[in-house]
Amino acid sequence: MPEGDTVFRAAHRLHAALAGHEVVRFDLRVPQAATVDLRGETVRSVIPRGKHLLARIGGLTLHSHLKMEGEWHVYPPGARWRRPAHTVRAIVGVATADAVGFDLAMIDVVPTEREDDLVGHLGPDPLAADWDAVEAARRLALDDRPVHVALLDQRNVAGFGNVYANELLFVRGLAPTTPASSADVAALVETGVRMIRANRDRAARTFTGEDRRGRRMWVYGRAGAPCRRCGTLVRETSLGAAPTAERNVFWCPRCQPASL
Ligand SMILES: [Zn+2]
Repeated sequence: MPEGDTVFRAAHRLHAALAGHEVVRFDLRVPQAATVDLRGETVRSVIPRGKHLLARIGGLTLHSHLKMEGEWHVYPPGARWRRPAHTVRAIVGVATADAVGFDLAMIDVVPTEREDDLVGHLGPDPLAADWDAVEAARRLALDDRPVHVALLDQRNVAGFGNVYANELLFVRGLAPTTPASSADVAALVETGVRMIRANRDRAARTFTGEDRRGRRMWVYGRAGAPCRRCGTLVRETSLGAAPTAERNVFWCPRCQPASL
């Protein structure tokens, strides 16, 4: 599942392939942007912002979001794509490479000075140079909702998705239903930042420090399996800010006791 670390790596790959080059192929296969043509413009940079990706081309910004299934691939021009053509949403080609975006969401093109219309609501980003831990903790401390829901709200902190929220709450010993406002949010933020920075450059995310398949998670995806720390069976439920935003939640009832 794409989270901030995945988007960071994707932006880095796209930047390396495209920045400084003139666009020679440009195709957005979404109705709202199908007529935009940036051929002849120069790619200035590609940067991540939380789970959003911003490609600055000429005076415009191509915005996209990976959501659940999205991926950007970089190919030599003319190479065969590794995903079906009907899932392509965007192509940005330069003389030496084609960046192809599959199953992207939230595709928009806006003047670069108006990027904040798209990402200005986001909270501090732990992978950005301007990361502000104090501000992230301040936003979480004001949130009375279950801490799992608060961590996923990108207005509090930008970049954590469901895998991070689950693993982070296990490591901090917090029940997912604990109100964020009563948790030690400074410690939570500090641990979360350490996790996402450690995983930033890894292809396979790990939270346990182990790198073998099936050993990388404490609780995520492990419902009914024994807790790696205490042996109690890991439980699963769902939580969300709204019924449509519910996510699978995994926790160890012993290591993460609900506060009364
Ligand atoms: Zn446990």
